[in-house]
Amino acid sequence: MVSEDETAVPDNVAPQSASEDAPTDRSAEQTAAKTKPASGRRGPRQTLAEVVSYFAPCGRCGFFLAGYRAANGLDNLETAVNQSKSGWIVLSWNLAVRELVLKSYGCRIEADDLHYEGCCSECRRHFIFRASRNPNDPDTLRIEIKPRKRQ
Ligand SMILES: [Zn+2]
Repeated sequence: MVSEDETAVPDNVAPQSASEDAPTDRSAEQTAAKTKPASGRRGPRQTLAEVVSYFAPCGRCGFFLAGYRAANGLDNLETAVNQSKSGWIVLSWNLAVRELVLKSYGCRIEADDLHYEGCCSECRRHFIFRASRNPNDPDTLRIEIKPRKRQ
């Protein structure tokens, strides 16, 4: 590692055409670049619009997500999307959601169920209900953002 090489080898450095084309736009681009990687690049985190677009092609899942938003509100769903992890969103669990799971997927999750794993019969999107062990914590329903390809 010779330090002189770093300045002597321009081949590895991609020229930034943006800075040459429009110097006045640089500040605008820099601020855009600051916000973009946080949502787009750093992880598989999705926007609400993207999540909706992944649910929409499937009649059951589209119905479920629309019903969830109607029952729990857009803020609730947006929060769930913002907190999504590794391709799953964690939804609130309540009677309305239980009805929705039944109507959308035909799965009846009983009040005394502790754990229930289901799967959309059309697109094979998985969902997992988990009853909280702690009365202070809410029960949750995790659902896949995108149905993974399975064999
Ligand atoms: Zn589905």
